[in-house]
Amino acid sequence: MTRRKLLVVALLTAACGFPQGRPALPAKPKLVVAIVIDQFRYDYLTRFRANYSGGIAELLDRGAVFTNARYRQFPTVTAVGHSIFLSGAMPSLSGIIDNQWFDRGLNRQVTSVSDEATQLLGGAGPGSSPRRLLASTLGDEMKAASRGNCRVIGISLKDRAAILPSGHAADGAYWFDPRAGAFVSSTFYFKELPEWVRGFNASRPAEGYGNAQWTPLAASPDYPDFRKKMPGGGPELYVALEASPYANEIVEAFAERAIDAERLGGHAAADLLAVSFSANDYVGHQMGPDSAEVRDMALRVDRSIGKLLAFLDRRLGPGRVVVVLTADHGVAPLPEVLAERKMPGGRQPAKVVLDAIQGALSGRFGEGRWVAGASTAGAYLNRELIASKKLDEAQVEAEAAKAARGVPHVLRAYTRAQVMAGKAGGDAIGEAVANGFYASRSGDVFVVMEPYWIDVEHGTSHGSPFDYDTHVPVIFMGPGVKPGHYGGTIAPNDIAPTLATLLGVETPSCSAGRALAEMLVR
Ligand SMILES: [Zn+2]
Repeated sequence: MTRRKLLVVALLTAACGFPQGRPALPAKPKLVVAIVIDQFRYDYLTRFRANYSGGIAELLDRGAVFTNARYRQFPTVTAVGHSIFLSGAMPSLSGIIDNQWFDRGLNRQVTSVSDEATQLLGGAGPGSSPRRLLASTLGDEMKAASRGNCRVIGISLKDRAAILPSGHAADGAYWFDPRAGAFVSSTFYFKELPEWVRGFNASRPAEGYGNAQWTPLAASPDYPDFRKKMPGGGPELYVALEASPYANEIVEAFAERAIDAERLGGHAAADLLAVSFSANDYVGHQMGPDSAEVRDMALRVDRSIGKLLAFLDRRLGPGRVVVVLTADHGVAPLPEVLAERKMPGGRQPAKVVLDAIQGALSGRFGEGRWVAGASTAGAYLNRELIASKKLDEAQVEAEAAKAARGVPHVLRAYTRAQVMAGKAGGDAIGEAVANGFYASRSGDVFVVMEPYWIDVEHGTSHGSPFDYDTHVPVIFMGPGVKPGHYGGTIAPNDIAPTLATLLGVETPSCSAGRALAEMLVR
């Protein structure tokens, strides 16, 4: 280095050493509120913008809004989206490949969080835990960095949506049990439900919605009017509530109670509250993204989130909470609505492909039960049968994939051997299949249907690698966040490393994302 360069470096170093020359850094957040709306397409932000006045409106006005956030894995389902949310990890590392899959060791279906070693608390039967999640989450890293001096809480209607975002070191994850009409948890976290949870349940919040009439919040000439009456009480009411805005209201009320009881925002290090509003998914499956009901669910979850943010403002004061909002996946339009628009798409049960595989393998290699199980991504072949006939697994997989490709409306079929050899790539769909693959948990043949083809007989579904399922909102708001609209392509995997950077804690172990430095106040 020349003397002249040395002088420049010395001057620059000196300039940086004077803190009075810099703008003041924002106050450290006291709490991270991480919100998922289950099944909430990006276009719900723009289509219903005029009618938002609550939390979504505030986030859109005052937050950093990412307009092109897309999932990059297959399948796009609840457990996978929620596992990515605060770990940043792809299923290929986190091990959360689906809501449920075929466990070869146990020879039966398991869910992403089912755990026979635990008991449900507040309900009957086995409990759930994050043990199948192999990655750390933001909350786990916050716990490690603060040596346990912070609180991490997860709340949702669904077990997986409460457990997977909050992680292993969480102080508690709570979800709604429609049999009990109350919030439950698992012995994974503690021996009995905390006092405040029992108190909340004792007030029977669900019963308050007995016989409630659900009508649209804001009339619109573009959407039909509707009226839905809730049952009077009991389990029939609790199940009905899950597909209504009232379940989200109960989740919001429970979150307020958690904030007070757990003193969230009141610890030495920042706390984490992960809340997932699942009722939108139940309504969306039944009615589709173009329905008046889905529009109303969006307007009402905007109000619920607004109520939660206002509560936090009162409790902690403004500017102390970092909020992030996203969705775990989108949804396909109803095939009947697509037909009216002269669009492609339709319904075809997954069984059609599985039967074709079974038929082709029987014809080629002899009789037997060739398909051992299935998940959203595809089929598990019967390895015992393959071994007993002294066949080569890769050869049988290839035959099965060929049979799947012969089924109408199958776009792609990949084999396990292909994915493991790194040969599924070539385009975004192949990469999404590879990102969704975990060797000891995934199947042997992966089938992607043509766009707009769904496998349910009624209503609609999600899971595909196409835009309507992958494009979701990502919005940050709070201290350290530069508001504005950001049009660059990002992934929800970027949320966890961004929050880790903002909080100054380690990035979760298997994050596949990047810190969104463009929106961070330096
Ligand atoms: Zn769903």
